[in-house]
Amino acid sequence: MQDLAEGVAHFQQDVFPAKAELFARLATTHRPHTLFISCSDARVVPELITQREPGELFVIRTAGNLVPAHADGARTDGADGVTAGIEYALAVLGIRDIVICGHSACGAMTALAAGQDLTELPAVSRWLRHAAPTGAPHGEVDVLIRNNVALQLANLATHPAVARALAGDAVTLHGWVYDIPTGAVERIDPATGRPAALAA
Ligand code: ZN
Repeated sequence: MQDLAEGVAHFQQDVFPAKAELFARLATTHRPHTLFISCSDARVVPELITQREPGELFVIRTAGNLVPAHADGARTDGADGVTAGIEYALAVLGIRDIVICGHSACGAMTALAAGQDLTELPAVSRWLRHAAPTGAPHGEVDVLIRNNVALQLANLATHPAVARALAGDAVTLHGWVYDIPTGAVERIDPATGRPAALAA
């Protein structure tokens, strides 16, 4: 915790003054252009990977960068934060691009690929069903990481706000996989889960 307090002091003394104009503008303006959905993994930092400033990315982070399909989202507890974030990003913020970003060495995907026993982690087990609707065995983790990005893009498109925006050409969906040891970002073809050829 001491590290965090020292970080805040450094931010206030050195970083904030250098970007004072930006923060003054952001005080009254929230117009991010991109909804960035990534894993909660501490090694995946959306603003660092994309070199974006505060105010540019509207970020949702979940274990395994999972987006429950809308049919699964008809819950009675009202605790559907992912759906709320997607709806707000499109209907209020008017974002134009959505990135779902998987990553190498993902703990959630490793657990699925290895068929790990999750009986001691019942909430994790329930959550990971959004990545394994068939319950089929998964095999190699690197393949699963890419296929999962494609699956979550498909889940994303089931949300009414996303479907409406796609129908009106108002939003573009992107699949990425970030490689932690090299910094590489691979684009994923939403239809196949394979690396996208010559994508811009
Ligand atoms: Zn992960």
